[in-house]
Amino acid sequence: MAKLSQDEKTILAMFSYMRPSGTPTETMFIERFLTPLGFTRDPFQNLVLTVGDKPRILWSSHVDTVHGKEGIQTLAYDGEMLTLSKGAKLNSSCLGADDTAGIWLMTEMIKANVPGVYVIHHAEENGCVGSRDLARGNPEFFADIDAAIAFDRMGYDSVITHQMGMRTASDRFALSFSMMLDDALGDGSKSKYAADDGGAYTDTNEYSHLVPECTNISVGYHSQHTRNESQHVGHLIALRNLLVKADLSTLVIARDPAQVEYAGSRGFYRGGFFGHGNWDHDDPWDNPKNYTAFPDRRSTGSMEDLVRAYPDVAANILASYGMSRNTLMDEIADMYGDAALEAV
Ligand SMILES: [Zn+2]
Repeated sequence: MAKLSQDEKTILAMFSYMRPSGTPTETMFIERFLTPLGFTRDPFQNLVLTVGDKPRILWSSHVDTVHGKEGIQTLAYDGEMLTLSKGAKLNSSCLGADDTAGIWLMTEMIKANVPGVYVIHHAEENGCVGSRDLARGNPEFFADIDAAIAFDRMGYDSVITHQMGMRTASDRFALSFSMMLDDALGDGSKSKYAADDGGAYTDTNEYSHLVPECTNISVGYHSQHTRNESQHVGHLIALRNLLVKADLSTLVIARDPAQVEYAGSRGFYRGGFFGHGNWDHDDPWDNPKNYTAFPDRRSTGSMEDLVRAYPDVAANILASYGMSRNTLMDEIADMYGDAALEAV
């Protein structure tokens, strides 16, 4: 394999840390890569750094990974895709590109002096703890912010407009974001980034009542939270190259954060459950108007469908949350009796 570039070396170094929230390995990572840049902790344990004078964009990622245990992992890199090494898969529950990719991007933007309030959130994987605490504990923090942009999305082309079925960014903003990247490409080609209303829950969702445009941008990882998680390194570097020269003043700010709007054309659950008024009005949970905190309970059927369709992913996620085979057997026996286990 060709000699690694400096970018690749830094990315591989960062991706080797397994960082469940609050662990010594997380602290080591922060002290090696973030403290030297000037990041400091806010009262809610988020890492914060401001570049420029009264910037109006908040850039976001999260410092924790969803690994089952902390430590250093070995990686495999073929010059394009970065994954866990075969040996590491015995020990490590995921690659942690979610969200080491977003952190690397932000450190590069800081080095290039891109203006913004940079927030690397605490304990996103434990339920957006740091962002929720910040929104509740210090809403004034967002007074001057027009857009909260997370780099915490799988794939190559999403500009998220809806998180868990609720609009958090306008279509006009999404279009302006993709056009901004197209302009930065500068050769007449297209970045392919486009509005995507199928977003899951991430930190910027916590700010959607305070900040007009709250989005999440694809950073080139796939199969997050599993042992087969991968990172397209070239995509990440290309995105960095565009962001450090993008003209942020072209972003269109259009959403009114006081207005709540549900559902997109596709929606998070893809089945059209939230689409166009086909709710079952007899079940109060089926009417999005009844949501105040957006719990995961939308449609138990669709969760089960997903597990059935992708049992390997579901099993990996359970393992990554620390559930062993024996614990799961106990749960099944509680529900269906010991006889149920004879079949497996
Ligand atoms: Zn994430």
